[in-house]
Amino acid sequence: MSHKGLLIVISGFSGAGKGTLVKKLMEEYGDYALSISMTTRSPRPGEEHGREYFFVTKEAFEDKIAKDGFIEYAAYCENYYGTPKDYVVSCLEQGKNVILEIEIQGAMKIKERFPQAVLLFVMTPSVEELKRRLLGRGTETEEVIMKRLSRAAQESEGIESYDYIIVNDDLDTCVKELHELMEKSRDKMQASHHPENYKELIENCRNELNALVKGEK
Ligand code: ADP
Ligand code: 5GP
Repeated sequence: MSHKGLLIVISGFSGAGKGTLVKKLMEEYGDYALSISMTTRSPRPGEEHGREYFFVTKEAFEDKIAKDGFIEYAAYCENYYGTPKDYVVSCLEQGKNVILEIEIQGAMKIKERFPQAVLLFVMTPSVEELKRRLLGRGTETEEVIMKRLSRAAQESEGIESYDYIIVNDDLDTCVKELHELMEKSRDKMQASHHPENYKELIENCRNELNALVKGEK
């Protein structure tokens, strides 16, 4: 599927700081559209329906799957997470840069479906720091934290499929780097030799060739 806006996928281990980074990026640089995912997990204290996620029941989520309402979805630590289709497709058509903050299975589906998407993986300087952040956030039980770390071990096998690695050490530096990378990717896409950028030439060429073959020229 071709599109005018840049589709940006941000993944990373639970606790690496994706949410924090994206929030700051949105505050500091206005020109991104952030897709709000749907999930069956319960809200954490401070999270709001329609802001961090659309929190729904398993039935409502499965109903949306049946209606082909997601561009991707995945199961993660016993819950569903998915990207609603309409918002992303309409933003891309309007030429907006859209950010998806999703896990690795979803990211791979996006890569297949939107080959021009840019995939970024957020890491911490060390696993010790990752554990410290997950524990420090204080939003999960120790049991859930262990599940998330075990999931991180599995996800670590797929990091090389991403286009760029971002090390979230100093937050402000990282936000700046993230923005710069996205700008570069956007420039690259706009200057690229993708058919989307040659629509008029292709159409004219097609019409003239057809006219020529029919003897009209
Ligand atoms: P994720 O969305 O990747 O699961 P969060 O954004 O919730 O991670 O961050 C996990 C914890 O780490 C939070 O308590 C957050 O305040 C903290 N954190 C995020 N980025 C940094 C950073 N650069 N340095 C120190 N702590 C951070
Ligand atoms: P959390 O419960 O910490 O908010 O999110 C758990 C994981 O689900 C994170 O890796 C997050 O990036 C991922 N996630 C959030 N929304 C989506 C989504 O729409 N699709 C997929 N595939 N993963 C998502």
